[in-house]
Amino acid sequence: MAETLHYDLAVIGSGPGGYVAAIRAGQLGLKTAIIEKDDKLGGTCLHVGCIPTKALLLNAEVLDYFKNAKEFGIVCKEFSVDWAAVQTRKDKIVKKLAKGVEFLLKKNHVDMIQGFGRLAGPGRVSVTDAKGQTSEIAAKNVVLATGSEAKMLPGLEADGRTILTNREVLELKELPKSMIIIGAGAVGVEFASIFHRFGTKVTVLEMLPHAVPLEDEEISAEMEKSFRKQGIVLHTQARVEKATKTAQGVSVAFTGADGKAQTLEAETLLVAVGRAPNTQGLGLEKTRVELERGFVKVDGTMQTAEPGVFAIGDIVAGSPLLAHVAFAEGITAVTHAAGRPVEPINYQQVPNCTYCEPEIASVGLSERQAREAGHKLRVGRFPFSANSKAGILGVREGFVKIVSDEKYGEILGVHMIGPRVTEAIAEAVAVMRLEGTAEDLEHIIHAHPTLAEAVLEAAHAVTGKAIHI
Ligand code: NAD
Repeated sequence: MAETLHYDLAVIGSGPGGYVAAIRAGQLGLKTAIIEKDDKLGGTCLHVGCIPTKALLLNAEVLDYFKNAKEFGIVCKEFSVDWAAVQTRKDKIVKKLAKGVEFLLKKNHVDMIQGFGRLAGPGRVSVTDAKGQTSEIAAKNVVLATGSEAKMLPGLEADGRTILTNREVLELKELPKSMIIIGAGAVGVEFASIFHRFGTKVTVLEMLPHAVPLEDEEISAEMEKSFRKQGIVLHTQARVEKATKTAQGVSVAFTGADGKAQTLEAETLLVAVGRAPNTQGLGLEKTRVELERGFVKVDGTMQTAEPGVFAIGDIVAGSPLLAHVAFAEGITAVTHAAGRPVEPINYQQVPNCTYCEPEIASVGLSERQAREAGHKLRVGRFPFSANSKAGILGVREGFVKIVSDEKYGEILGVHMIGPRVTEAIAEAVAVMRLEGTAEDLEHIIHAHPTLAEAVLEAAHAVTGKAIHI
């Protein structure tokens, strides 16, 4: 029998949470293993999430420049999309980054083990490989980082051609003529922005009153206005009754906001109604690990109720399903496992970024949440139509909104929609982290001309003193 390998820490799952946890554990001198069931490292974010979608969004943006070439004084009579080449570029980016993850794990002396990992008793993890062979390792600490999978509507099954989730939609061999997207959360609106711009007729069905329903209502309203102006059909308060496969594609019956029943036909259907945690089959039932609707409960150090067992990323109860949150949770967990002090994550200071067109980014409380929490507010807004750099880029829509407490001007939330706002949000997060006020932000000198000046101007606007409007 092979000798059991002993580790200080084993990570199950190599998505953004898992691989970052393993790298940091290696840096802290812990003998570390990472266990991954797939034949590639990087998880959802790298293979079927953040990275490939943002690559495709960039292609769509480039295509937009071609479509609007005349505005920039460029005569471009003929251009077309080579979808296969678009896909190849995306795949190359993913492959390169996956190699990078492997390199970083090696550099930090992390052992990579392929197979399905599960808790096999205190300090023990079993690994079942692709051939069904099971082996065991010993680990003083285990970090569960198994991520999530897209939810499906009851009675439907993804088939790779017609019924799609975030996974299959990335592998389409041809651009579909039409697509119905169920769900206007991040996945739904990002893919709407991709396929609409590539010429697919896109219809989005959202059951709640607004698209991107977790955002400040003014942001949702601006996005809906922009989507409709672009030609994306968006039905909110749409109750999907039935989705069926047809000879040509799919048929979706729904009840609209007006209470009338409607039926839509399309070549493809993307189901983007949220994700479920991968917590089954991990051997949790024989541990003290507590679950809440399938998600794992943890304390401020990311430790579960089972000593030495941590959980990070999409499986954590109450934590947003975001790669950058998983990064932070991974670092917190292994820092604690290494016996070093940690500060619990402040989930109020997590940036939310949706890379649709126009982009959306936010941090902290929405105006409604802040009022409901009892704050008296001062709100500053600044439109990108009055920002010089946005003008140079040819962008006229969107705005920055700062929600601050009336008394001392403490910034409670920052909400943005418009060009490159997913980059600009970092400043707002930094200021909030430092407990900055709108006045502090006013004293930060911003380079001119930049999109970031819209943040400065929104800070000036909190006290009614915006300059360029
Ligand atoms: P989501 O929960 O963000 O959005 C799902 C949307 O579908 C919601 O608006 C919901 O109201 C709607 N919905 C649910 N059931 C429906 C139904 N039957 N009919 C019509 N609408 C319905 O989920 P998602 O967009 O699938 O994304 C999954 C997770 O991944 C989210 O937590 C998201 O934040 C994260 N994610 C983040 C990014 C990013 O940060 N840019 C990108 C993609 C995904």
